[in-house]
This record gives sequence, C-alpha cells and structure tokens, in this order.
Amino acid sequence: MFLEVSQLGVQYANSTQAAVDGVSFSLQAGEIGVFIGPSGCGKTTLLRAVAGLEQIQAGSIRLARQVVSSPQQHLPAEARQIGMVFQDYALFPHLNVAGNVAFGLTHLNATARAQRVSEVLELVGMASAHKRFAHELSGGQQQRVALARALAPRPRLLLLDEPFSNLDVDLRERLAHEVRAILKAAGATALFVTHDQLEAFAIGDRIGVMHHGRLHQWDDAYALYHRPATRFVANFIGHGVFVPATLVHRRDGVVACTPLGELTGDDECPLPSSYAGGECDLLLRADDIVHDDNAPVKARIERKAFRGSEFLYTMQLASGETLLVHVPSHHDHAVGEWVGIRAQVDHVVTFARQA
Ligand code: ADP
Repeated sequence: MFLEVSQLGVQYANSTQAAVDGVSFSLQAGEIGVFIGPSGCGKTTLLRAVAGLEQIQAGSIRLARQVVSSPQQHLPAEARQIGMVFQDYALFPHLNVAGNVAFGLTHLNATARAQRVSEVLELVGMASAHKRFAHELSGGQQQRVALARALAPRPRLLLLDEPFSNLDVDLRERLAHEVRAILKAAGATALFVTHDQLEAFAIGDRIGVMHHGRLHQWDDAYALYHRPATRFVANFIGHGVFVPATLVHRRDGVVACTPLGELTGDDECPLPSSYAGGECDLLLRADDIVHDDNAPVKARIERKAFRGSEFLYTMQLASGETLLVHVPSHHDHAVGEWVGIRAQVDHVVTFARQA
C-alpha cells in the first residue's frame, strides 16, 4: 500500500475529545480516496495530520512504507513531498498563471521549468492562460490552475480540502469529474475531503464516511449505498428509512417479515440469530420500493418533491411506518392519495432495533 494510516488518533491540546479517533485505511498508488462526513467530524484534521501539519497522539501514518507520523516521529510537512489544494484557490495575485505554476519548481532549470509548466497547464485544460492573472480567471479556472500548481512538482501524494466549495453547485459536480480525469491522467495518488456526496461519488475510488472522529466505513460508492456498515452511513448516504422487521427461517432460506410483506435479497439475508428474537430494523431505500397499482399493500402520499425525471414521495403505510419512494415523474399522484407499493430489494440490510 502506498499510504497506510493505522489507528490514527489526533487530539487538540485544548480539547478533551479526540478529533480523529482510531482511524485506519490505506490507498494504493494511483488511487483517489475521499473523506466525507458532516461538519466537525474530523476530515480536515485527518488531512492535516497526513500533510504533517498536526502532530498525532496515537497510531501511525506511512507513506511509501516510511513512517512519516507516529507519536514518537514526525517528518516535517515540507519533507513529505505532498501537494495541497484548498478551497480558497490561494493563487499569488502578483504572479501570472505560469508564474504561479512555476512556484514550486525552483529545483529545475529555466527550460525544464517552462516545459513542466506547459505540461501541467495542458493537463488541466488551461494551456492558453499562461499570461493571465488570478483576477482575470473564473473560480473554476483558478481552481484548475491551483491544481496544476500542486501537481507540477510531482508530489508523492496530493491532498485536496473542499476545493470546490466556493463554486456554483452546477460547476462543482462537473469539475469533480474533470479533476478525477486530470488526477488519473497524472497518475496521482490523492486524498480529498468534502461534505458533498455527489462530489465524493464523482471523484473517489474509495470513500470514507466519518462521524465524531471515527471512520465508519471505507469502501466504494456502491457498497456504501447498498451495504452500509452502520446506521449512520445508511442515513448519511442516499435516501432511506428503517422499518421494523423480523428475520425468520423458511424452508428455502431466511426471509425478513416487514410491513411490506416478506422480503428476500439477491444475496444472503442476515441470520435470525444475529438479533434477539430475529427482531431488527431493515433499511429501505427509496429505489427499493416500486409503485404498483396491483400491489396489495397501499400507502398514502404525505409529501412529494419533484426531482426532474422522478418524484421523491414520502408515504405512510396504514400501520404508521413512513417510507421514501422514487417514482417516475409521469406517475403524478396527489398528496393524500393511496397508491399500491411493493418492495423490491436487492440487498437485505439490517441493524439492531432502535427504540
Ligand atoms: P471537519 O473538517 O470534518 O469539519 P475538523 O477536522 O475541522 O472537522 O474538526 C474536528 C473537531 O476538532 C471539531 O470538533 C473541531 O471543533 C475540532 N478542532 C478543529 N480544529 C481545532 C483546533 N485548532 N483546536 C481545537 N479544536 C479543533
């Protein structure tokens, strides 16, 4: 593994709680990892510890097998060969684009420096902007130049802290896809921090979900959505609700008895013995539920939100449970109407019953 973080603990001197607590993950060379979580969950602290900007109190950080951080050892930030891109582009206003990108290349002679500047500006699609100044560029362009500047010295690892948060929502997702393509073309290994799921999905090979300093899951986007490891991940990623379920053995396998009938997934159901009496809560994603006029189970539409190609309906079963349901937008039902629904789950995901 290229980057290996093991049981990392970081606590600020003036704080009684660890900002990062027992976090372990690793990245292979050329992979992009993303950390996502609500404000204050420890994402920035984690990134700063990897950069060498924070001392760590527990665990270790290894870069290309070398320990760069442990409670006893601390390789200074400037010796780590790590590049950083922050949310406030922070281009030098008195230097033009080429001057900004050349800033970290003083070890090269003039010819090699000019060549590298052209190369990375080409890579980020800003080849024609050599002579322009930051105030002559849009936010998205400035961020591309900041990325070129960070990539120019060929850092071993690139860290990006919410680099798109000052940009328009529309631009953000597009730029996230572009930045992924640029990082892949550069063969860069990168760690990225965001609070935005679409951005995380657009950019990451692996995504870590953090909460209160702890890493709840380190996985690809599909697994986070379909096989969330904790209730927090299930709630944080995507739309879904929990309904009470009882797991029972049937002749041909385990089924989950729910207010929507008996459910089985494509893959194995958790065993009834996982929970006292098989009683648990089952995750139902909005796309696990299908609107079907012939279904015996009816639900009442409580709320609806138009999402372009579909509606997100909030529905209530006669038994009281609330559900979220994606329905193609040509099925335009009124709030208060009762419609037929059935569950079509691929993965039975359960958690301990919560009061
Ligand atoms: P995030 O980037 O996910 O918003 P941070 O890493 O910034 O989270 O913060 C994690 C926790 O550490 C928060 O509780 C925050 O208040 C605290 N914290 C961050 N920076 C400092 C600091 N310099 N001194 C003390 N506490 C800090």
